[in-house]
Amino acid sequence: MSSGAPAAVCDRCGQDLAPGELKYILRLSITADFDGYLNESDTGKLDSGALLAELEMRSPEELEEDICLERAFLLCPHCRAAVLSDPLATGHGGGGPGWVT
Ligand SMILES: [Zn+2]
Repeated sequence: MSSGAPAAVCDRCGQDLAPGELKYILRLSITADFDGYLNESDTGKLDSGALLAELEMRSPEELEEDICLERAFLLCPHCRAAVLSDPLATGHGGGGPGWVT
């Protein structure tokens, strides 16, 4: 290594990504999709001891990640193509092109 730049590595395949080399950032954002509907069994649990006990056992970070989780990954061009061909890892390219947000 003659460069002093920190080594970048593809998070998917582990390939070294040299400074200046083409690479991509994959941003993953998963948020709860609340449709406004609460069924009776759920609303009945809102003030139950069991629900409160479960909340106390979990950290605020865990609870927050149930609602909104964000991650970023560095990808090489090959892994970018692989992720785009099967973004939901169904093994058969399922899931369609997804939404444009
Ligand atoms: Zn890769």
